[in-house]
Amino acid sequence: MNSNFFSIGSFLNKSKIEQKQNLTVLYNSFACAVQRDGDRIKSVTLANKDGLVSVKPKVVIHCTGDADIAAWAGAPFEKNAEVQPLTLHFRIGNVQQTPNLSTMCCEALAKAQQRGELPYYYGPGVMFLFGKNEIYVHGVRVPADPTNAADLTRAEMQGRADAHAMFRAWKQDVPAFAEAYFQEAYPWIGVRESRRIIGKYVLNEDDLMNSHRFEDAIATGCWYMDLHPTKP
Ligand SMILES: Cc1cc2nc3c(=O)[nH]c(=O)nc-3n(C[C@H](O)[C@H](O)[C@H](O)COP(=O)(O)OP(=O)(O)OC[C@H]3O[C@@H](n4cnc5c(N)ncnc54)[C@H](O)[C@@H]3O)c2cc1C
Repeated sequence: MNSNFFSIGSFLNKSKIEQKQNLTVLYNSFACAVQRDGDRIKSVTLANKDGLVSVKPKVVIHCTGDADIAAWAGAPFEKNAEVQPLTLHFRIGNVQQTPNLSTMCCEALAKAQQRGELPYYYGPGVMFLFGKNEIYVHGVRVPADPTNAADLTRAEMQGRADAHAMFRAWKQDVPAFAEAYFQEAYPWIGVRESRRIIGKYVLNEDDLMNSHRFEDAIATGCWYMDLHPTKP
């Protein structure tokens, strides 16, 4: 395997869109297949409003989060049999700021789960982050395989159902939600863990715990070692 296979470069599309500073942006285009020529990617097939479009990249920079293109091209990757659960964030408007709100929300969810209205959740993290009376909720938890289209769809549906179940539970049991309304659930469910490309170097626990620095670093992470369980 050529080691530059997935490193530097850009997708070029010389069709109808204007190119600025050697960068062409193509929205709403989903990579869906690759064609190889030996150990190189010859072309990537995109699905978009033009139909199936073939792009011949000089180099592919891989950013799908799921290593889709790498996996389809036969690059080595690893993936746990059970990956961490997915989470759909959502927001609720017109919530009264009240002491111990998180505790009350947590108790209401425990009751909703006992009633069979909520299969699995965590926290919840209830935060007034963006507006005075608007909460941002970090509480949905759906186990699923994000690299499987049907399972990802099921997870997103479950995430939306759970978000509304939480909202109903709080409307019912928490006075601060008396005038609240469901503002929005985010457009996609968020994935925590998926395929991992096995690159020239694989970051390990010691690197994270001891904040190792690398000469060729392209990003800095500052989050702690975080593990969300797959089962209640
Ligand atoms: C709820 C939640 C909370 C989190 N909280 C934290 C936190 O507090 N701290 C932290 O450090 N990390 C956190 N994470 C993890 C962090 O969000 C991810 O590690 C990070 O976003 C991964 O970045 P990425 O660019 O690799 O992939 P992503 O951000 O997933 O971006 C991938 C992009 O590629 C697009 N894409 C996917 N497949 C294709 C395809 N086939 N063709 C074209 N486009 C495609 C997707 O639409 C997406 O826009 C959290 C994750 C979740 C889900």
